Amino acid sequence: MSTELPRVDVAVVGGGVIGLAAAWRARRRGLEVAVLERGTFGQGASRAAAGMLAPVAEADLQERDLLTANLESARRWPAFARELADVAGVDVGYRACGTLLVARDRDEAEHVEHERDVRERLGLRVERMLGSAARRLEPALAPSLRLAVALPDDHAVEPLRVVAALVEACRRAGVRLIEGFEVGDLSALPADRVVVAAGAWSGGFGDGRTAGIPVRPVKGQSLRLRDPSGPGLCDRVLRFEGGYLVPRGDGRYYLGATVEERGFDDAVTALGVYELLREASEILPGILELELEETLTGFRPGTPDNAPVIGADPRDDRIVWATGHYRNGILLCPVTADWVAAELAGEGADHALRPDRFVKEPAA
Ligand SMILES: Cc1cc2nc3c(=O)[nH]c(=O)nc-3n(C[C@H](O)[C@H](O)[C@H](O)COP(=O)(O)OP(=O)(O)OC[C@H]3O[C@@H](n4cnc5c(N)ncnc54)[C@H](O)[C@@H]3O)c2cc1C
Repeated sequence: MSTELPRVDVAVVGGGVIGLAAAWRARRRGLEVAVLERGTFGQGASRAAAGMLAPVAEADLQERDLLTANLESARRWPAFARELADVAGVDVGYRACGTLLVARDRDEAEHVEHERDVRERLGLRVERMLGSAARRLEPALAPSLRLAVALPDDHAVEPLRVVAALVEACRRAGVRLIEGFEVGDLSALPADRVVVAAGAWSGGFGDGRTAGIPVRPVKGQSLRLRDPSGPGLCDRVLRFEGGYLVPRGDGRYYLGATVEERGFDDAVTALGVYELLREASEILPGILELELEETLTGFRPGTPDNAPVIGADPRDDRIVWATGHYRNGILLCPVTADWVAAELAGEGADHALRPDRFVKEPAA
């Protein structure tokens, strides 16, 4: 790639939600920032995500640091969405729709009760109900459901719109946005600091002295569906064993997602699509009437402890990691961006999700 790079304070490698948001926040602190994306902005996991803001779904009390970050980021999302709308003029599709966690049988009910228990201990709002009561809220649910828990504070955004808003916010703020630029060697970039936000591909960086952070791709297949007769099939996010359905409020739905350890294999498989539709149709039979608009695959950036890696590398302060957001990168976008910008501004940030979990300062 022959694009001549300008000298900047900060080069951000990767133009997904994490890199774009970090760049925007760093620019607002007066830094000269460039985002280097090898393809087009948002083409990675950010494009394929559902956009649920579900701080407790994947974490439990053992993952306390992740949970703390998730809850803090969920709290910041409404203001973050408003700010993006103001500065970029793009609505990110934030819907305060709430979520219903539903169970078909006794095993699933146990999982649902566990999540309710965790949430109650955290002081979060939950409402346990029988399947019949859940059907009063969402009449298209299957009559056979055993149990449901309403999570009135778990909402959703539209990741594609979040990407569009962040690109526009960056552009208006004066971030240099460079597409079609594949970064190979971090040490060759003409920048004082380098933020690695390359999602599932972040594990490939390291310059001999610094082996990369352990990030691996975790494949997810998902579907975009559309009801030609408009909205109404369901209003809340539905979460169930084996998947989730996110209504966009206008007749479009997102059905996700498989979780597969298959490296960077991006095939959409008949089995993947079949399983998603089978599970979802047992919860919401009307889903089989919808039009199938698009099949998707994305690669979640997974780390050994499922939590992101945010902060300066203890072996080389020039490198700042902002990666490994696994299933929560959309949710964690606001806090990650603020923590990275604080770090770049020399203020540091008070959190426990630092790279020294995986890499240590070299012995003196
Ligand atoms: C099916 C699925 C559903 C999901 N649902 C949710 C959800 O509901 N809620 C939630 O919070 N999260 C969800 N996620 C997780 C979320 O999508 C990710 O955590 C998040 O998008 C990670 O963002 P990122 O910017 O780090 O990575 P990415 O979006 O993958 O961006 C990384 C970018 O780096 C670029 N890049 C890579 N290498 C280089 C290089 N050498 N040089 C230049 N550029 C490079 C890539 O092209 C890419 O654009 C989901 C993920 C998947 C796959």
